Amino acid sequence: NLTERFSSVIKTLRGEARLTESNIKDALREVRMALIEADVALPAIKTFIERVKERAVGHEVMDKLSPGQALVGVVHEELVAIMGGDKAEINLNVTPPAVILMAGLQGAGKTTSSGKLAKWLMEQKKKKVLLVSCDVYRPAAIEQLALLAEQTGADFFSAKTGQKPAEISTAALDFARKHHHDVIIVDTAGRLGIDEAMMQEISQLEQLLKPAETFFVVDAMQGQDAVNTAKAFSEALPLTGVILTKLDGDARGGAALSVRHVTGKPIKFAGVAEKLTGLEPFHPDRMASRILGMGDVLGLIEEAQRSSDQKDAERLMKKMKSGKGFDLNDFQQQFQQMKKMGGMSAMLDKLPRQLSQAAQNMNVDETVINRTDGIINSMTPQERAKPEIIKASRKRRIAAGSGVTVQEVNRLLTQFEQARKMMKMMNKGGMAKMMRAVKG
Ligand code: GDP
Ligand code: MG
Repeated sequence: NLTERFSSVIKTLRGEARLTESNIKDALREVRMALIEADVALPAIKTFIERVKERAVGHEVMDKLSPGQALVGVVHEELVAIMGGDKAEINLNVTPPAVILMAGLQGAGKTTSSGKLAKWLMEQKKKKVLLVSCDVYRPAAIEQLALLAEQTGADFFSAKTGQKPAEISTAALDFARKHHHDVIIVDTAGRLGIDEAMMQEISQLEQLLKPAETFFVVDAMQGQDAVNTAKAFSEALPLTGVILTKLDGDARGGAALSVRHVTGKPIKFAGVAEKLTGLEPFHPDRMASRILGMGDVLGLIEEAQRSSDQKDAERLMKKMKSGKGFDLNDFQQQFQQMKKMGGMSAMLDKLPRQLSQAAQNMNVDETVINRTDGIINSMTPQERAKPEIIKASRKRRIAAGSGVTVQEVNRLLTQFEQARKMMKMMNKGGMAKMMRAVKG
């Protein structure tokens, strides 16, 4: 990933007082390679590299930064900028009902995202939401949305058999006005490929409904193949934003860059899980960190905050921030949080690649988590705070106390050391900087 790629070229930049076209050449080649690996489309890469070059050349290196760090900083900032800068808010500033039109290929995640968005709008914005399906070609698709409505508690507009999409949506709009809905989400049919009839149909719907938001829904796993679809939709429709789905299936996130480049529209939401809670406002800064290989560490911390005591999370955050004083108490706490957060695999997705590899080597599953808990419980407070003092006789006592072998105690101590190293790496990877950024 980019962080690894960078570390080698950063060395060659050491001692330079300013960034020049020639001394950043190698570094930019590495950036280019990393973006290709992230499956970003070539035109987007080209524009991006040019922008970075423009900003970096002549850039004076600040006191505390090395030239390498300065360049990484520029790359990060430009990544954020190219993905839209600040988080883009959903626009509902119209006379209600605000219409949200969902466009995209079949399988992109329109119907699922309609349900998720309804839930999000009801919970986060306290809106009264009406769901309506215009996918008249597949009765199962209408059923799917009706079921999602039932699960989220959103209202569902049932069309009469034989009604056309245009008729359905005008009827739904009337219904929403009568029943004082704040938002109406219109799910549409998608085809497997782009076809003229589909484009005409959705364009007609758009003109009829005058939506506050016309979202292009696109599957992140499509990588740069998303480009052609994005182009076709943005030419046919006045898009207002993008919903990037299935980000849980593509750790690289390259599609975010390509789609933004082609449509010029902000990514407003990201699908991060199949379940109904798996839709989040899109954060360009986090995606930039993810593409840079720093992983979605901020997201991970937010999740930890949600699923554990606020205080515990803060304590752990402080420790992570300083990278110092990480002891077996924290280690134990981490394991307990992992359990709350849905186990190791949910967490691995969010970690930077090299950390995730280290964690995988630790081979953690539910039984290991429980056993780890037991072993640490058999230690004295001094041992937990200063693991270095745990020599042979203490190991025997701990093993006997927790009903495991001395080898297992050893294994835990090795894992702890690895975790401590991970903490240090996170710290080096700009953890402290990111923490400051998130605190604003
Ligand atoms: P549509 O044809 O555009 O309406 O697509 P659907 O909403 O039916 O979604 C197609 C498939 O993708 C379904 O199996 C969804 O569960 C799945 N899906 C949609 N969004 C996400 C996501 O963010 N993460 C994951 N893992 N699956 C998703
Ligand atoms: Mg559908």
